[in-house]
Parts: sequence; structure tokens; C-alpha cells
Amino acid sequence: MTGDADESASSATVEDRREEWKGPVPVPSGANTEFWAATLEGELLYQHCEECGTAQLYPRAVCTGCGAVDPPFERSEGVGSVYTYTVCHVPGEPGFGDRTPYVVAAVDLAEGPRLLALVDCAPDAIEVGDSLEVRFWQVSDEAAVPVFVPA
Ligand SMILES: [Zn+2]
Repeated sequence: MTGDADESASSATVEDRREEWKGPVPVPSGANTEFWAATLEGELLYQHCEECGTAQLYPRAVCTGCGAVDPPFERSEGVGSVYTYTVCHVPGEPGFGDRTPYVVAAVDLAEGPRLLALVDCAPDAIEVGDSLEVRFWQVSDEAAVPVFVPA
């Protein structure tokens, strides 16, 4: 925190995990290019359709509510709650083998969209409805993966 008076939303922490990350690496392209660029700055973006109000993640070329092309991005505060979660004892990704058991949750962001994400916590330290906040693990020169921690 620097105390900048004109920035209501502070950027989330971005940890450099490029050396240790063995999971999938996002490749920015098309509609998600702006999203991944923002992750490197610790900012979580979502799309908010100006035509129908639908809020969506991950980024798509069209609105899932009305089909409007290129719904604009807005910045999320990066806080949400656990809609549901699972504890993975068998890795869903080959590169996650040494991470088990790990937690994956469907996170309802305060702004509306729901996304699947890793939660960096002990498997017995999470409940439906818990408050979470976003962090970022940088996994390449082009992308940092949103990961949530208990708020
Ligand atoms: Zn729409």
C-alpha cells in the first residue's frame, strides 16, 4: 500500500513462480490478451456487457447473455466467496502431481462472474461461503494465474 488517494483499488500481489510452476501455461490470444496482460500488474479483469449487463469470465469474443461483440473489460476488486469447492487428491493436471492434495473452487466475484481457480490453503481450511481474495502467480513472461487465498 502506497496510500495513493486516487486509486481506490490496490493491485494484488504477483509472485514469481516461473521456476517452479509445472501446470498449464496460458497463451494470450484474441479476446483474452488484455486479461492476461493485466494479471502481470496484479489486476483481475472481467467483461461487463454494455448492452445487457452480463458479467463474464473467462474472456470471450462475445457476450454470453446477448451476443454483443467484444464486451468491454472492467477491473474486479479481486474479492469473492466460495460457491463450491473440491479437494483434488488425484491431480487434474499432470503438472500438479506434487501439489496434491490441493483445493479448486468456483469463486463468485463480488461483481458477479464465477470462475474456477486454485485456492492456496489447507484442504480443511475452506468452507462454502468463505470470503476469498485474489493473488497472482506469474507462470510465464506473458501471464500470471489468479489464485485465491482466504480473506
Ligand atoms: Zn450482453
